[in-house]
Amino acid sequence: MSSEARALTTGTLADVVALLSGHRLAVLTGAGVSTDSGIPDYRGPGSPPRTPMTYQQFVGDEAFRRHYWARNHVGWRHVNRTLPNAGHRALATLEHRGVVLGVITQNVDLLHEAAGSRHVIDLHGRYDRVVCLACGTVISRAELADRLDALNPGFVAAVGAVADVEIAPEADAVIESTSQFTVAACARCGGILKPDIVYFGETVPRERVERAYALVDAADALLVAGSSLTVQSGLRFVRHAAGTGKPVVVVNRGATRGDRYAALTLDAGTSETLVELVDVLAAVH
Ligand SMILES: [Zn+2]
Repeated sequence: MSSEARALTTGTLADVVALLSGHRLAVLTGAGVSTDSGIPDYRGPGSPPRTPMTYQQFVGDEAFRRHYWARNHVGWRHVNRTLPNAGHRALATLEHRGVVLGVITQNVDLLHEAAGSRHVIDLHGRYDRVVCLACGTVISRAELADRLDALNPGFVAAVGAVADVEIAPEADAVIESTSQFTVAACARCGGILKPDIVYFGETVPRERVERAYALVDAADALLVAGSSLTVQSGLRFVRHAAGTGKPVVVVNRGATRGDRYAALTLDAGTSETLVELVDVLAAVH
């Protein structure tokens, strides 16, 4: 594809359809696809400024870690109750009809899987698992919840009574005081437990990155849905697709760091856009 064609073009839905028709798609999704499920996107337009926690903060500061786990203990239940929306379902349908080869998601909410997508790469991990940093043992978040409930009787009920609990995308909730919260250690070795989520300052496991590149390589085009592509872990697939001559279409509310690599951008919500794409792309495929 020519460099002129790759220059940023803000298009319409009809332009997106024309560009993607007949192509098999790799899809990269971010927080924007989950906002209609009630999980706020802290990077979207109009979002409150928020400093993400870093891996170094988590492993280096016991008080910080206690505060994090206390908030997570409340917040993960919210994610656990969350349901996929029309956008997630549209991507699952497009996969079943052979249009979408697979989804690379920066979300940890598992809503693509819940909607029926089969080929999903959870780039940044998943909220329902916990890993020991010392011995590598992985347990379910539900199992840890039972242990934390036993260690902190009444905590969740007390916090639930607070009117304004802010829920963040990575299953975080802001709580006034967490100094009394007791953290659980690894039952096998006593090591530090961490949600199986890739934090800032952490790298995505190499094997996971390779699978994502392979998905992009197997596709004819890359569709980015609901990501501002702020972090390199997602942006690299956009650069890779563009660098190998594949059209990149970005559907997102607001500008993204990947716009300069896109053949087309569409400033729109993902749910309504993906639903429209099911009707037209699945029909012509
Ligand atoms: Zn361990």
